[in-house]
Amino acid sequence: MESPKDLAELFQRENGFLIFTHVQPDGDTLGSALALGLSLRLLGKKAVVVRSDPLPEIYQFLPGSGEIADWRQVEGDFRVGVLVDCGDPTRVGEAAKLLARVALVVNIDHHGTNAGFGQYNYVDVQAAAVGEQIYELLRSMEVDISPAIATCLYTAIVTDTGSFRYESTRESTFRVAAELVRLGAKPAQVAENAFETRSLSSARLLGRALETLELTPDGKVAWLVISRAALEETGASDEETEGIINYARAIRGVEVGLLFRETGDGKVRVSLRSRHQVDVSRVASHFDGGGHPRAAGCTLSLPLNEAREKVITAVRGALADS
Ligand code: 5GP
Ligand code: MN
Repeated sequence: MESPKDLAELFQRENGFLIFTHVQPDGDTLGSALALGLSLRLLGKKAVVVRSDPLPEIYQFLPGSGEIADWRQVEGDFRVGVLVDCGDPTRVGEAAKLLARVALVVNIDHHGTNAGFGQYNYVDVQAAAVGEQIYELLRSMEVDISPAIATCLYTAIVTDTGSFRYESTRESTFRVAAELVRLGAKPAQVAENAFETRSLSSARLLGRALETLELTPDGKVAWLVISRAALEETGASDEETEGIINYARAIRGVEVGLLFRETGDGKVRVSLRSRHQVDVSRVASHFDGGGHPRAAGCTLSLPLNEAREKVITAVRGALADS
């Protein structure tokens, strides 16, 4: 396992970086990748941020987001591939084909299910967001953190902590966030873009999703379903399902909230959230997914009803063991 200092030396020594974000990119993977990309370019290095999936509209305000490259557009040779916020290498999606071309893999992540798949691994499960880790890294690299970089890192932290509400939030999370505000991040502006601006279709989708709410007889597991039909009829995109799962977990007495979403290619994407007891990353790992103890995900190649039965059974088992 490498320290931020070890990675700082590596970044100073090497050149030619591809920075990989994960599928269905969130604020942490995007903000962290953009901050690292901006910083490496400040140091005169060649660095490109790469994506497999489209950039969600709510993150288009992030400085540098217009330069994120679809992996298919990347040409030329890059020596180093940096994965940010990826619990395992498959999280980069189709960009895995591009990742296969680099000589060195650097893994910067905070998921407990991360097995340390890189040649260089900076995995800190205590970090509330990878944004905190990138901040430490940039400090070790003695990068002059610009307002643009601060905005990216602040966004990574505020989104991955659910605005400093989740269990992962610690004293240093606030300390780093305060420092980023001092360096030019604007909390109200980030919040307005990331949390307070939604499309009309996403509000309609939320309505459809809430109509599907069901609970187990003991009231400890609650789930919501988003069918292909609901997505098509509301006109909402896959990215606009983010946050809907919180309505399931927030019901009094519920320990585990689940969201099942039909993907376009006949699979079912599952999001899992728990309150205090169940380590949902273990349940997700059982289905080849992963994540954090309180927030995890997996994908099942099964029809919706079967996927739902399987996951709910596994969650009830985990609850019984907890
Ligand atoms: P979400 O439900 O928001 O998609 O994901 C919740 C958390 O679990 C995030 O931290 C995400 O990175 C992680 N996660 C989601 N799906 C997967 C997966 O298929 N594999 C792994 N390793 N982690 C996942
Ligand atoms: Mn994260």
